[in-house]
Amino acid sequence: MLGAKYDFSRDRERRAGIDDMVFMSKNTDSDISHNLKIRFDVNYIYTYIGPVLIAVNPYKNVDYCRENHMEKYRGATQMDNAPHIFAIAEDMFSNMLIDSEKQCVIISGESGAGKTVSAKFIMSYIAEVSGGGPNVQRIKDVILQSNPLLEAFGNAKTIRNDNSSRFGKYVEINFSRGGEPDGGLISNFLLEKSRVVSQAENERNFHIFYQLLSNAEFCQQYSLSLKLRFQYINHVGAIKVPKIDDAKEMHDTQHAMDIIGLPKEVQHNIFSLLAGILHLGNVNFGDKNNYATVLSEQDLRAPCAYFGIEVDYLKTKLISKRLEFKEHQENKQVEQTFTVHKAIFTRDALAKSIYSRIFDHLIQAINSAFQTTKKSDLSVGILDIYGFEIFERNSFEQFCINYVNEKLQQIFIELTLKKEQEEYKRENIQWTPISFFNNIVVCDLFEAKQPPGMFLLLDDICASSHATTEKVDQSYLHKLSSLSNQHLIVSPPTFTVKHYAGAVTYHSDQFCEKNRDILNIDLIEMMQSSTIPFVKRLFPEQTSTIKARPTTVGKKISSQANELVTKLMSCQPHYVRCIKPNENQAPGEWNSSNAIEQVKYLGLVANIEVRKAGFVYRREFAKFLSRYAILTKQTWPKWDGKVTDGVMHIVDSMHLDRREVQLGNTKVFIKSPESLHVLEDMRLRK
Ligand code: ADP
Ligand code: MG
Repeated sequence: MLGAKYDFSRDRERRAGIDDMVFMSKNTDSDISHNLKIRFDVNYIYTYIGPVLIAVNPYKNVDYCRENHMEKYRGATQMDNAPHIFAIAEDMFSNMLIDSEKQCVIISGESGAGKTVSAKFIMSYIAEVSGGGPNVQRIKDVILQSNPLLEAFGNAKTIRNDNSSRFGKYVEINFSRGGEPDGGLISNFLLEKSRVVSQAENERNFHIFYQLLSNAEFCQQYSLSLKLRFQYINHVGAIKVPKIDDAKEMHDTQHAMDIIGLPKEVQHNIFSLLAGILHLGNVNFGDKNNYATVLSEQDLRAPCAYFGIEVDYLKTKLISKRLEFKEHQENKQVEQTFTVHKAIFTRDALAKSIYSRIFDHLIQAINSAFQTTKKSDLSVGILDIYGFEIFERNSFEQFCINYVNEKLQQIFIELTLKKEQEEYKRENIQWTPISFFNNIVVCDLFEAKQPPGMFLLLDDICASSHATTEKVDQSYLHKLSSLSNQHLIVSPPTFTVKHYAGAVTYHSDQFCEKNRDILNIDLIEMMQSSTIPFVKRLFPEQTSTIKARPTTVGKKISSQANELVTKLMSCQPHYVRCIKPNENQAPGEWNSSNAIEQVKYLGLVANIEVRKAGFVYRREFAKFLSRYAILTKQTWPKWDGKVTDGVMHIVDSMHLDRREVQLGNTKVFIKSPESLHVLEDMRLRK
C-alpha cells in the first residue's frame, strides 16, 4: 500500500533541503540552485520538480546508484522513495505495462552534466527488472554492450568531459506484453567527424584510436606505434588520460563487438581501416607553382594497403579531380589539380568519410542484432543527445546542435503544458492557463519552408554556387538579413540567434562547405575500387544520382529532428535535467554561478511555476482515501460511504480551504503545496 511505505523521517535524502521543488516557498534561480547545493552537500544528487528529475553530477560513485539499490524501486511509485533515477526508470517501465503506452525519457543538460551516465542507469535498471529467458538475455546483452561499443567510436576526451559523447542517440527498447525486451532500435545523430582529423588543445581524437595504439599485438599487425607521429592524433594535446585505461577498454570494445555479433573478419576490417586513417593523415603535400604534390610516395603505401586501393590512384585523387565539360557538343574531361589547401581538405574529407561510415556500420550492426520479427507497440525510448553549446567561437556544428536542442525544448513546452491541460480537461477541472515564452518562433527561424528559414537559405546558396570561398558565406549573411527579427541579428561576419538558452553568435565562414559535406565523386569511385569487400560495402552509392541532388547536412538534421519529435510525441514523456556542479570534473565542489546559469537556461523556474499554477497534487479518489484514512475516526480503518464523500470528509476535517481542492471525474486535485503539507504533517504525527 502506498501510504505504508511513505516516510519523510526515514531518508536523510528527504530531509536535506526540499526533495520536490514544487514545494519551495521561493523559487528564483538562486533558490533552486541553493536547494540543490544543500542536497549535494550531504551527497544527495537527485531532486524532483513534480515528475521531472533534476540530477546533479557527483563526479564520484555514490552507493545508492549501485545495482543492489534497484530492488527498493521495483513496483514502487515516485512518492514511495527519495527522488532517484531508478524511480524514473521504474515509472517508465511500469506505466508502459499498466497503461499499454510507449514511454520516452528526454535527458538534457550541458556537456559533462551526466546525461550518458543517467541513460546507462535507466538501461541497466530496465534490463534488471524486466523479464528473462535465454533469447531475452541476448537482447539485454545487446542493449548493454551497445554502450561501450558506441562510446569507443563516438566518445572522446574534451576539455569539459573525459568521456564526452560526440554524437546523439535515441535508443528504443521494445517489449512483449509480458514485459520482456524483445528487440530495439538505435538512431544516431550528427557524429562530430571533424574530430577525426583535428582536435583542440588538451582534447583527444575518438577513444578507439588510443585503444588500438595501447595494444601491442594490434600495433604490430597494423604498423602502429605511439612513437610514430600521427598527425591525426594531436601531440600537443592529450594522449593519455589518467582516468582512462585504454588497454582495458580495447578488451571491452572487442568483447562488445563479439556480443553484437560482428564477425572477427569484420572487426579486423574495421581496425585496419582505422589504421589506414591514421596513416593517411601523415600524407603531406608540397607546393609547386600553386599546385599540390604528394611529398613522399612512401607515405601512401600504408593507407593504400589498409584501404585496398592502388597507390597511384590515391596519389592522383588526393591532389586532383576530374572535371567534365561540354565542348562543341562533346563531353570532355580534364584533371584539375588542387592547391595544397584543397589537397589537405580532400585528404581530411576522405578520412572523415571513412570513419563516419564505419560508425554508421556499427549502428546498423547493433540494430540487426536487435532485430526481431515480432512487432511491438510497447517500448521505452531513451534520448541522450549533446546539450546546448556556447563556445567562444561557434560554427556550423553548434548551429545544428543548438537547433536540435531548440526542438527538444519545444517538445518540453508542448508536452508538459499539453499533458497538464489535457488532464484538466479530461477531469473537468477549472484552471487558469499561464503563459510563458514559446520558442516555436526560433524553431521556425531555422526550419520554416515558406518563407524559407535559415537551413533552406543555406541550401539555396550551396546549390547555386560551387565555390567554397568567403563570398559564398557572405552572400549567406546577406540572405539572412531578410529574416532579421528580434531573435536573429545579422552583423557580418557573424550572426546572432537568441536561443531559449541564451544568445549565440555564429561565425558564418565554412557554413556552406560544412553544409554541403559531399565527398567528391572521384573519391567514392576510388574507394569502390577497393579489393576489400567490406570497404566496397561502405561506399554503396550510385555516383550518378549524387550529382543530381546532393543531400545537405542541414536537410538531414532537420528531417532527423522532426522524425524524432514525431516519435517522442507519440510517447508518454519523462524528463531528466542534468546539472554540472563545477568545471573541473571534481567531486564535492559546487560553483554557484555555473549552477545558477544552468538552472536558468533549463527553465526550471518556469517549470515549477507551471506546476504550481496547476495543481501540485492529483490522485485517484481511492488512493487518496487510503493514504489519509488514518486522519479521521470516520475513515479509519474503513470508509463506508461514497468514495468522493470520504475524500471531502478528510478535506473538511483537516480544515482545508475548499477552494484549494477540486474533485475531477476520477481524481482529487489539490492546488497548493501548503495544503498538501497540512495533510502530510498530520499523517506523520499519527
Ligand atoms: P554528458 O553525457 O552529459 O556529457 P557524462 O554522463 O558523460 O556527461 O558524465 C561525465 C562524467 O561524470 C562521467 O564520465 C562520470 O565520471 C561522471 N558522472 C556523471 N554522472 C555520474 C553519476 N551519477 N555518478 C557518478 N559519476 C557520474
Ligand atoms: Mg554524453
